[in-house]
Amino acid sequence: MNNKFKVKFRGVRGSYPTPKANYLNFGGNTSCVEVMLDDRLVVLDAGTGIVDLGVELVREHILSSGNPQERKNIEATILLSHVHQDHIQGLQFFKPVFIQGSKINVFGLNINNEDLKDTLQDVLFDRVFPLGIDDVKCDFNIQNLNDSKVVVIQKCAEPKILELSSFNQNDYSKDDIIITFYKTQAHPKNGCLCMKISYNDKVLVYATDKESYVGSDKRFIEFAHGCDLLIHDAQYTHQDYVSPVAPKQGYGHSTYQMALESAKLSKAKRLLFFHYDPNYDDTTLEMLEKEFANPECGIEFAKEGLEIAI
Ligand SMILES: [Zn+2]
Ligand SMILES: [Zn+2]
Repeated sequence: MNNKFKVKFRGVRGSYPTPKANYLNFGGNTSCVEVMLDDRLVVLDAGTGIVDLGVELVREHILSSGNPQERKNIEATILLSHVHQDHIQGLQFFKPVFIQGSKINVFGLNINNEDLKDTLQDVLFDRVFPLGIDDVKCDFNIQNLNDSKVVVIQKCAEPKILELSSFNQNDYSKDDIIITFYKTQAHPKNGCLCMKISYNDKVLVYATDKESYVGSDKRFIEFAHGCDLLIHDAQYTHQDYVSPVAPKQGYGHSTYQMALESAKLSKAKRLLFFHYDPNYDDTTLEMLEKEFANPECGIEFAKEGLEIAI
């Protein structure tokens, strides 16, 4: 029976990695969430958290057969919310990219009218890495994405990017993975894609690098309405957000209160705070956890390694 919808947090840190002892309870790797939908793998963002996922996938690939010709190929669809460093900086160290036979789809928000492949080539490969983007061994399928598109991943088929305007949900079954997008403009400079994954009547919404508005972000609330799990940016305390010395308004991130408001108004069944400020060590986040977490009401803090079944 098909019913597995599992989430594993591979990186929960915002901005830059924090590989220091007093940061590791919550985690030091930047944004990456592994989503396993039965046998299909979707990865949300490719921060440094994706590196360990790649190591595990290659290990499984090698163990799948003693004969290299008969090994099960690695297939993954990586969705990039945007191309800020903390969401892409693990991609060129994602080992399956260098394994012949791997099929790695990378779909992401492109900057202005630039091609995503050109951007990744420029900032991750060629000039700043020993290998060029065309030197990788996998089938590396890099495509532009925006909120006018829908991604559909059907069993035993290549993922498809379709136009939202002509998409008809009735053409698909609940065994098909349907991913839609909401673009928040409140993240400098080019916005960021929030993502909604629907599978088997369950819904996950991933909303990183998102700042709310006074009175909430109404279009986002509608987008996330009734989701089973909401993963929401929670970079700043309210005090830091409004700090008279270094205010964070306009940086494109939320406070804990904003994330809570989004969850409450969208009637999300479960909320996981995500994308922690790199200046917040475990002691700070444990204090925030005491203040804001309420597991009985489904309000928790994402931690690196945490697994959740939806
Ligand atoms: Zn970020
Ligand atoms: Zn960002």
